[in-house]
Amino acid sequence: MSTSSAARTSSGVVLMCTLLLSAFCCMSMAAGAGVAFFEHNPVPGGIAIVDLQVPNSDIAPSAKLGDREVAVIAQNGSWYAIVGIALSTEPGTSTLSVDTARSSSTIDFEVNDIQYEEQRIVIKDDRKVNPAPLDMERIKKENVRIAAVKAYRHETLLSDGFQLPLEGILTSPFGLRRFFNDQPRRPHGGIDIAAATGTPIYAPATGLVVDTGDYFFNGNSVFLEHGLGLQTFYAHLSKIHVKTGDRVSTGDLIGEVGETGRVTGPHLHWSVGLNGTWVNPYLVMSE
Ligand SMILES: [Zn+2]
Repeated sequence: MSTSSAARTSSGVVLMCTLLLSAFCCMSMAAGAGVAFFEHNPVPGGIAIVDLQVPNSDIAPSAKLGDREVAVIAQNGSWYAIVGIALSTEPGTSTLSVDTARSSSTIDFEVNDIQYEEQRIVIKDDRKVNPAPLDMERIKKENVRIAAVKAYRHETLLSDGFQLPLEGILTSPFGLRRFFNDQPRRPHGGIDIAAATGTPIYAPATGLVVDTGDYFFNGNSVFLEHGLGLQTFYAHLSKIHVKTGDRVSTGDLIGEVGETGRVTGPHLHWSVGLNGTWVNPYLVMSE
């Protein structure tokens, strides 16, 4: 149907609008809706759930954001991409590349704007803000190791929901624009939960231990993979109770709260990752 023939009758106009809506507006969901335990909130640091328009009778399509494979889940007769949106993403249109058994295509989705609050922190140990040259060598090596951890992917989703890893007081929400000793640093890629040193930290969902170690900024840390690139990260621990390669179930003890690394007091820094980027942890706890 051409535009002119559609415009000739009112029913034709309605039909054309419907076609346009299904083509451009219904690829992603209404905010707050979800697939599995993921909540759709397409903002920097959020999650976009994008209908790939592939029937779930077909084998799983592969979807990529840039060069990163994103999680793909079947629900309600279709395949959906569960896309982690980096905090550094500019609001506007983002594009997924999608490969099915039959074809390759792209699907656009919109990233809405959000304003995160500013936070200013005073760190007594200035070396944790302005590392010495020797520290920089260590940090560079750690960044390579962290990149490898973030690229690790277990091919099936191991979990069907998340709980908080400990009881405590939320002291710093996700996404804060941060200044350490008045110097701008990366935004807050997780949440901080304050609790006494030694407070047990439990696996919030079934997962695999991908790495543990003592990192310059993060202190004693644990990385878990929950499948399809859904990861969680635990920092500043006093004790670690798991080792790389362990499989943990929801509620298993993985470590204890501490104040190792760059901190102002004992707390757990907890991050949730999707396709290698940190997202707001509350978007996986919507159930
Ligand atoms: Zn933190």
